[in-house]
Parts: sequence; structure tokens; C-alpha cells
Amino acid sequence: MRTGAPRGAPVLLNPGPVTLSERVRRALLRPDLCHREEEFSELQAEIRERLLAVYGLSPERWTAVLLGGSGTAAVEAMVGSLVSPAAGLLVIENGVYGERLSRIAEACGIAVSRLHLEWGARVEPAAVARLLEEAPTPTYLALVHHETTTGRLNDLARLAPLCREHGAGLLVDAVSSFGGEELEFEDWGLVAAAATANKCLHGVPGACFVILRREALPPRERAVRSVYLDLGSYARLQEAGGTPFTPAVQSFQALAEALRELVDQGGWRARRAHYARLQRSVERGLARVGIRPLIPGEESSVVLRAYLLPDGVTYEALHDGLKRRGFVIYSGQGDLARRIFRISTMGDLAPADMDRFLTAVEEVLGDG
Ligand SMILES: *Cc1c(COP(=O)(O)O)cnc(C)c1O
Repeated sequence: MRTGAPRGAPVLLNPGPVTLSERVRRALLRPDLCHREEEFSELQAEIRERLLAVYGLSPERWTAVLLGGSGTAAVEAMVGSLVSPAAGLLVIENGVYGERLSRIAEACGIAVSRLHLEWGARVEPAAVARLLEEAPTPTYLALVHHETTTGRLNDLARLAPLCREHGAGLLVDAVSSFGGEELEFEDWGLVAAAATANKCLHGVPGACFVILRREALPPRERAVRSVYLDLGSYARLQEAGGTPFTPAVQSFQALAEALRELVDQGGWRARRAHYARLQRSVERGLARVGIRPLIPGEESSVVLRAYLLPDGVTYEALHDGLKRRGFVIYSGQGDLARRIFRISTMGDLAPADMDRFLTAVEEVLGDG
């Protein structure tokens, strides 16, 4: 049963923070915990096990490291901690978050080369292969799985084998896909993926994590690029039941409950199917009023889709009209701000929410 937004609160169609289920919301009211007590250790251990279990990863080969912060903190910890000092990094940019990966790497003093594409462009494997051939060794490739800027799902199944062929380590920003899209950690040869509690996992903001191969953990003697975002120290202490800094305890409580709920709802495949159903009904309903997607449905994630604003309708008018009717949509970024709006189906949403949303869209457009 999906409980959805509390009465009177808007339905969130933005890509996180998401509409919480009642079950996850109630987890925020559990008794306060000291992070140096065994109750916290147990909670942390459960979350770390459950995170690996989302994609059936073996705890012998993989480890999940929990951090405080939004998704960007996990991405920065992954890039800053795992790219060794002598290595270069190739970054694929086809949206805001790919470009952020480059900025993070540069801030860490990493030698970055870029495959810079227009936002929303398809990533051609041949172009990636060429750059990997020219790259000095050792090298890593970093890319965004689901580029939330446009909804494009970058085709990891085709791009990952190139890394294996060229001996490059693959680092993935899976912030807006983990839990809602297919991620074949083993088959695709990932080194690590970074994600967050409050997107497809339906937890609250404040906790994020990196899942990495144990063999990729940085050696203890390696100089760190950040004290707070050093994955090595988190990993070592968390393995022993501890944590280096004060964690976001309430976020962890909610994340544990959200992960239990994900299992009860059938795991990532069922969640993906649920999102796909909601997106299909939105796409069909918007098509009826002449609104078209920015990129074709089959190249888009099921988590979020971008739609072209109809002629003569500003984002502000659409947003404000929908907000008055109880729905929060999401604008485009940069140059796309005037051309698109985005609809995310993450969170505790039901098909009936989408039906009401589509009725609201028709009303708002009718008013214009
Ligand atoms: C949301 C998101 C992030 C991180 O954003 P935060 O605001 O730091 O949580 C990073 N990458 C992608 C692809 C995202 O969608």
C-alpha cells in the first residue's frame, strides 16, 4: 500500500527529496541514539548489508561506506579517494552532473580529460574508446548513469566493456539511479558507484554512500585529498562498527526503514516497473495535450523524464498553476530552464497521483 503525501502537503514530482511513505516518516521518531553505542553499530551494519543486497553484491568482494551529506558528498568521496595519485581521469559530460564530476576531480588536483557533449546528447561508444586509447595509464573513467539534467540514461551496458578492454577503472555517479534502474556491478566491472538515501531509495536527505570493490580501497599510507570525505577512514572504522564523525542518525534510521520497505515491495526490479508504469501514464497523458518528451522514452530513465514546455506557456505559469493544485514539478537547468520541465516518479507515489496530476495539467493549460 502506498500512503503518499500527507493530507494537505504537495505531491513532489521533483527528483528528491521525495515524498516519504508513512512507514519511513515514522522511522524519524524512533528513540535517539548515541553513535558510540552498540544500537547505532547494529543500525549501521544493517544498512551497509542491505545496500549491498539491493543488487545482490557479495560482502566478500564489495563494501558499502556510509557518509553524511547529499549525493554530491558521496561522488566527491568516491572520486577523491579512489583515483590514485598517478592516475588520470576521463570524464564523460552530457549534463550538469557529468560537468560536476569534472569540477570535483579538478578540485581534488586530479588530471582530468573530458568528453564534453551537449546536454542530453547520446554518448557514442566509439568516441569513448578513442579517448581511452589515448589516455595515459593508469586511468579511470567517471560518468553519470542517469543524467538527471535531461532524464537520459547513459548506456552503461555498452560503455562499461570499453573500460575493461582498456584497463580503465569505472566510477559511476548512480545518485539518481541506485534502487530504480538496472546496475550490473559485477558484469559491467564497476569499481565503485556513489548514491544517496533520498532519491530512488525513498529515504530522507542527509545520508549518502559509496559502494566499492574491497580491492579498490585506498591503502592506509596514501595521502588523502580530504579529511572529511576520505572513504578509507570511513571504511576501516565502519568495518569495526564505528564511524569517524557524528553521523546523520535520524537519516540512517529512515534509510534502514526505506531499505526494508524496498525489499517488502519486491526490490529494485519491482520499483523500476512501478516507476515505468507511472512514467508511461504521464507520457501518454501529456501527449494528449500536445506535450512531447525532450528525448525518446526508450533512451530515458524511468526515474525522471524531461518534457518540452508547450508554445506560449512559461515554466513559471505551469509550475505555479500546478503547485496551487498540489503538485511540485521541476524546472530545467541552465539554457534548458526556458525550454523544459521535468517529472520524477521517485517517492511514495501511486498511479492515482499521476491521474490527478494529469487532470491538473489540463486545468492549468485550459486556464491559459
Ligand atoms: C541529485 C544528483 C546528484 C547529487 O545532488 P545532491 O543535491 O548533492 O544530492 C548527483 N548526481 C546526480 C545524477 C543527481 O541526480
